Amino acid sequence: MARYTGPVCRICRREGLKLYLKGDRCLSPKCPIVQRQPMRNFPPGQHGQKRSRRPSEYGLQLREKQKIRKMYGVLEGQFRRHFVEAERRGGVTGENLLQILEMRLDNVVYRLGFADSRKQARQIVRHGHFTVNGRKTNIPSFIVKPDDLIAVRTQSREREYFKIVAETAGSKPTPDWLTREVENLSGRVVSAPTRDQIEIPPVNEQLVVEFYSR
Ligand code: SF4
Repeated sequence: MARYTGPVCRICRREGLKLYLKGDRCLSPKCPIVQRQPMRNFPPGQHGQKRSRRPSEYGLQLREKQKIRKMYGVLEGQFRRHFVEAERRGGVTGENLLQILEMRLDNVVYRLGFADSRKQARQIVRHGHFTVNGRKTNIPSFIVKPDDLIAVRTQSREREYFKIVAETAGSKPTPDWLTREVENLSGRVVSAPTRDQIEIPPVNEQLVVEFYSR
């Protein structure tokens, strides 16, 4: 299964925004976006420090699409498939898209506090440590539904990683649309998240709709 394996902070520097891709490190002063000495707070690459031109309308739409796609760690083909599904659902396509991305299994595991980043969540899902409604599910792009129960598999609970999660997850906040039972290492989807319940860095999802509607 394909995934991005290149440098991670480079993605945030490209967008000029903290996308929280590295877990705890993102909250530390080591984050290049907030480094006091703004040595690396410019776009990556040989020409990153040159004064940039005013972006075109297409450029703005592209950057917004890339920002959201990279924040959720999704490759282009998969992201487009999520967009097609968002359009098919009717209503506000941009909001549907964010809702679908939030309800991916890897994101839900991250939101429940069972992983420090979406990338880590993706890995532990791929390694088969989770069940959805009692059935082993190792597909990070699996879309959960309201009332679904996501839990760490019984066999996996004895692992050192999940013992630490059981001790630390309680201190992490969960969004209103999920409930968590740390002692059972499980969580339930209360409802699909509304736009205001989706806590992400500022993005304009409408520009993504315009990007794909060109
Ligand atoms: Fe790197 Fe995290 Fe800072 Fe992004 S937010 S630049 S991933 S440390």
